[in-house]
Amino acid sequence: MIPFLDLKNTNAQYREELIKACTNIIDSGWYIQGDEHKKFEKEFAMFCGSKYAVGVANGLDALTLIIRAYKEIGIMKDGDEVIVPSNTYIASILAISENNLTPVLVEPDIDTYNIDTNKIEEKITTKTKAIMVVHLYGQTCHMDEINKIAKKHNLKVIEDSAQSHGAYYKDKRCGNLGDASGFSFYPGKNLGALGDGGAATTDDKELADTIRALGNYGSAKKYENIYKGSNSRLDELQAAILRVKLRYLDDETKKRREIAQHYIENIKNKGIILPIQNSKSEIRNYENHVWHLFVTRTDKRDELQKYLSDNGIQTMIHYPIAPHRQQAYKEWNNDSYPISEKIHDEVLSLPMYGAQSFENTQKIIKVINDY
Ligand SMILES: *Cc1c(COP(=O)(O)O)cnc(C)c1O
Repeated sequence: MIPFLDLKNTNAQYREELIKACTNIIDSGWYIQGDEHKKFEKEFAMFCGSKYAVGVANGLDALTLIIRAYKEIGIMKDGDEVIVPSNTYIASILAISENNLTPVLVEPDIDTYNIDTNKIEEKITTKTKAIMVVHLYGQTCHMDEINKIAKKHNLKVIEDSAQSHGAYYKDKRCGNLGDASGFSFYPGKNLGALGDGGAATTDDKELADTIRALGNYGSAKKYENIYKGSNSRLDELQAAILRVKLRYLDDETKKRREIAQHYIENIKNKGIILPIQNSKSEIRNYENHVWHLFVTRTDKRDELQKYLSDNGIQTMIHYPIAPHRQQAYKEWNNDSYPISEKIHDEVLSLPMYGAQSFENTQKIIKVINDY
């Protein structure tokens, strides 16, 4: 079976360095909030081009703590609204509702699967405080238009960059395209730890300090609690592992781009819609996409998935159920988001990771073209 994602092979590439990094942590006797954590934050902020990065326990916490910090600072409050794409992974939406704010769903563009910038303004009310953009599958959103709308209506722009580490929009990387950004280092993400991890990036010192305190029991100084915080920190061990893997991230991305290019140039099956990179000319750019996922679309998705599986190719669906159709959001179950529903019915993700062999990519292309 050609796997959808092979983390064992991915991490085996860096085995010696990872073992050395882990050994150093074991021998240091310091396991939480030490030097590795600090160094990783500095290096990751530099990578993104942002002033601050705050390591947290996972990507959901990064997004949740950003909103929570805006509440503590007095920029948001219970009952406010945050605009978010209707086809995102559920975590983006959970971060909003967890804070007692209301997620307001906006449909995506069917070509890029990112939020449709033409549909944002009609959803803005007096309660709207932010637009949460999601650079879905690894491709950055139309940030010029989004930032223009945000400026006009005095809204914060929060990026969900959990799938887009290193993706550019013009000359800036995600993590530095809005007011604050959440990243996940879940093992399967483009920058993956060997366990859970996350970070928030921003240029706003007050926001960064507040997020850091909130994730540390609401404390900036030991035993002095400013907020009713939580415990959400990036372990030294994961920070050390991430420092090794961050050094190779651009190489991994380059390999993903080569695989994507190969798929795009060689899959000729007319029944399968390939990903269309941001088609607005000003930002059409190879570097906008880091190919976290290679998502195709077809109206006979389940048949294609079965055919590929019968031929030894594992695929996945991102995602099978739209957020508004989830039991967790019962209040939305009768609402209609036709573009999201179509996407959720039709998408199929092909195998994609940097260490995927050329032979496997060739075989996948051949099997699809024979369908
Ligand atoms: C993975 C993911 C998250 C959540 O990250 P975790 O580290 O798993 O909590 C949030 N948003 C998107 C778009 C994701 O893909």
